[in-house]
Amino acid sequence: MRKKIVAGNWKMNTLPAEGVELAKSVVAGRGEVCSCVNFIVCPPFTHISEVVKALEGSDIAVGAQDCATEAKGAYTGEVAAQMIAALGCKYVILGHSERRQYYGETSETLNKKMAQAYANGLTPIYCVGENLDEREAGEHFNVVKAQIEEVVYNLTEEQFANLVIAYEPVWAIGTGKTATAEQAQEIHAYIRKVLADKFGAAAEECAILYGGSCKPSNAAEIFAKEDVDGGLIGGAALKAEDFLAIGKGF
Ligand code: PEP
Repeated sequence: MRKKIVAGNWKMNTLPAEGVELAKSVVAGRGEVCSCVNFIVCPPFTHISEVVKALEGSDIAVGAQDCATEAKGAYTGEVAAQMIAALGCKYVILGHSERRQYYGETSETLNKKMAQAYANGLTPIYCVGENLDEREAGEHFNVVKAQIEEVVYNLTEEQFANLVIAYEPVWAIGTGKTATAEQAQEIHAYIRKVLADKFGAAAEECAILYGGSCKPSNAAEIFAKEDVDGGLIGGAALKAEDFLAIGKGF
């Protein structure tokens, strides 16, 4: 049985005290959502530590939004996977489209980041997805295939067993436009096939999340699709009530 996951990507939002409040509100309402849902919150680096403390005793996991390509050393401004793990993170988002687009992340850098994540016991949430031009040109299948082949295909079977994928069409992120449940299912099933081509039956166990303007009003319809195992949530993760309501979509 695949894991059901609702992960919140807070991006560059909240000050530490606000992040702690948000985390506490999620804990307070968590009991209203099926215990079968695995919640993850991904705060900015600066308040991971405090959020981890605020979540102590709950089953809500913490992730980082990125990690460095290198283990340690003279890389000013970078944050190493081992630092993130030491703070109590279990997950790390890698390859988010905003990082690909604004910070020039490539498959080459992402291979290094994946290696750092695994070396430090973190589960990567690896993001793939096409932009609007690519979707309109009918290239979306090829785009996600390449993003998977260039990075995920380099994993060992053991590493692959500890991977979460997030399909996030760039045209749906923060735009209010959501992929239809059918569009999500179509490409999630395709992603699972691409994974199966390399990893066989293990692909059936890999959680594939949908991301892109997912909200309480559309989560249930999207999560009902066979190959959608949850969501990576941006804007709606900043309100505990909405984040939890998305979890109720299962
Ligand atoms: C995201 O950036 O991961 C995301 C899904 O954002 P939003 O939900 O705001 O579209």
